[in-house]
Amino acid sequence: MVQAKGVHKFFGDLHVLKGVDLTVGRGEVCVILGPSGSGKSTLIRCINELEQISAGRMFVDGELMGLREVGGRLHRLNDQEIARQRAKIGMVFQRFNLFPHMTALENVMEAPRQVRRVPRADAERVARDQLARVGLSDRADHYPAQLSGGQQQRVAIARALAMEPELMLFDEPTSALDPELVGEVLGVMQELAASGMTMIVVTHEVGFAREVADQVVFMDDGVVVERGTPGKVIDAPQQQRTRDFFAKVL
Ligand code: ADP
Ligand code: MG
Repeated sequence: MVQAKGVHKFFGDLHVLKGVDLTVGRGEVCVILGPSGSGKSTLIRCINELEQISAGRMFVDGELMGLREVGGRLHRLNDQEIARQRAKIGMVFQRFNLFPHMTALENVMEAPRQVRRVPRADAERVARDQLARVGLSDRADHYPAQLSGGQQQRVAIARALAMEPELMLFDEPTSALDPELVGEVLGVMQELAASGMTMIVVTHEVGFAREVADQVVFMDDGVVVERGTPGKVIDAPQQQRTRDFFAKVL
């Protein structure tokens, strides 16, 4: 579903991704762990083209992202083509970014209505289904300010799911939440994983990684230091950098 090959990213002179390889199979859950500043957000932003990679190749669902190869030369895709590629990918951020003047239901309906031109009745049906999926049927008519952080983040997940993505990216989805609200969001993500969704999750929740991840990727300083099952990477790391990291967080 996702394949990164030798991905580099520069911000000006700052070399943030230094040749990252990543393979995530369909239906797999990949959890990316690593210290702050190691390039985790940049990597997942490169997957859905919120950032353009500087070198290497990124494939999603077998398709080269953002670029077309013509006669050995690479051409940047136009905005419409990029939007089409991005439509397969849902993303959930640390900050929920809901529209404050719209109810939960309207927030979830918005992208299907505006981007896909789905008729109102159909969009509402899909939105109600997705709100039910995240356990918020009874909050459909609430505004974001009337919801807890955990509920807002679940609306944000429902909103991403309403576009029927084939891949979901999560960038520290629980880092902005009060501790007592983390579990409800991780629970929704766990159910999503069990439903077969392909997911890439950047998180510091090692317990979630242990329970839900098929693959754990440990990043440091713009490279993948170690990857494998949670049992290998978290509990029996081979690399000193990985050991040092888990010695601090566990
Ligand atoms: P992580 O998510 O692992 O904390 P990031 O991918 O956010 O790491 O950042 C990696 C490095 O790239 C950091 O040094 C950060 O300051 C830098 N960086 C991230 N985004 C930008 C940007 N848009 N412009 C310049 N530097 C950036
Ligand atoms: Mg980050």
